[in-house]
Amino acid sequence: MKLQFFGAAGTVTGSMHLVEVGGRRLLLDCGLYQGPRKQAFEINRNLPFDAKSIDAVVISHAHIDHTGNLPSLVRAGYRGPIYATDATRDLSACMLPDSARLQVSDVRTVNKQRLRTGQRPFEPLYTPEDAARAVRQFAAVNYERPFEPLPGVVGRFFDAGHILGSASVLLELTENGRTRRLLFSGDIGRAGTPILRDPTIVPGADVIIMESTYGDRRHAPPTDTQALIIDAVQTVARERGTLIVPAFAVGRTQEVVYRLNELWDAGQLPPLPVYVDSPLAVDVTAVYRNHPECYDDEVLAAMHASADHDVFGFDRLRYVRSAEESKKLNSLSEPAIIVSASGMCEGGRVLHHLRNHIEQPNTTILFVGYQAENTLGRRILNGAEFVPIMGRDYRLRAQVRRAEGLSGHADCDELLQWAVQTQQRGHVDHVYLVHTETGPAEAFANSLRTAGLPNVTVPKRGEGFEL
Ligand SMILES: [Zn+2]
Repeated sequence: MKLQFFGAAGTVTGSMHLVEVGGRRLLLDCGLYQGPRKQAFEINRNLPFDAKSIDAVVISHAHIDHTGNLPSLVRAGYRGPIYATDATRDLSACMLPDSARLQVSDVRTVNKQRLRTGQRPFEPLYTPEDAARAVRQFAAVNYERPFEPLPGVVGRFFDAGHILGSASVLLELTENGRTRRLLFSGDIGRAGTPILRDPTIVPGADVIIMESTYGDRRHAPPTDTQALIIDAVQTVARERGTLIVPAFAVGRTQEVVYRLNELWDAGQLPPLPVYVDSPLAVDVTAVYRNHPECYDDEVLAAMHASADHDVFGFDRLRYVRSAEESKKLNSLSEPAIIVSASGMCEGGRVLHHLRNHIEQPNTTILFVGYQAENTLGRRILNGAEFVPIMGRDYRLRAQVRRAEGLSGHADCDELLQWAVQTQQRGHVDHVYLVHTETGPAEAFANSLRTAGLPNVTVPKRGEGFEL
């Protein structure tokens, strides 16, 4: 039995781990490496193994850094099953074609320059056809139902509480009469996240592959998000302005809609129209509606209590798919709330709304997610006097607010608690830390050793270990 790390090793992107057992090969995650364009293209295109030599694929969750290179794998000849939870399959059916369209438009931009200088054009990493083919190869399994991805291997998904359908994967591997229980954490969420259940402590693990994105960081205590939303909505109602909420299409958009629905039901908000303006967010919300098996008790209770059994829809809410309808939002004369992607304002329709409204003092921009350095979102948050949007500088006159402490990832204390509890419920003799930069990994490895897990390894890309 062998374990080899090909992605998310010493970095937070491109999750990909290879398990060899009984002469067969199983791939855990097949994520897109996201980074500088040229380097990303090289890494994603050149798979580190022959795609046809893989016998099964198991996916932890639908984020593109965990699934986004599946179309490349299929393009290179993989024809076997891709195991995932039902919700991950359905989210991937929206997200992989969306990723393919981005790949095609990205390479078109590059090729314009190459053709001008007489260079050979590049092919896209993959196309919507490759993505559609990958989607057809999914084999969906509900949480905690055993499945057999390879002869002699029993798999089970456990809720990881990170996004809809996210899972930790337990693989029972048997070779020559010896059994090892390998637990892949996937991305670990947080207790108390709206909509989702808390991360599961999986029993019986011998070896863990564990994410440690925030291995050396603690999240800020969460702001009272309800109070912040109420205040922002009341402000734009009073000043007859627009509230713009940049939010990622997967997860955060649905959380915002759920919160707004709840506050209106409780009579705490003035009656403004809400527009969710992102085609991907519209599709993803439909997937959220279809998967009540992933909801926590609070959402299930709210769903049963609401007249239409829909916690992601209400009278004043419009989901905007078409470009024409989106353009009509430019000429709204009434106060309104616009929720739009991308969450860090690096692309997507939110740019049009910012361009239209950022110079109006009666606009409020409410950030509900992390804003990385060098993003437009961070510039706005830092209160720059002018901000560049679609090639022009705009004066920032809008009011800017921010909800602190919202994250889909466990922080260092929560990760440590997860690891210690997993050890208490199993016989863990080794932990491999992935999905992290080297600094946080070393810090977290030390925390684990202090907590009584002595064997911790931070693998390098390509490194292999006997299980
Ligand atoms: Zn994730």
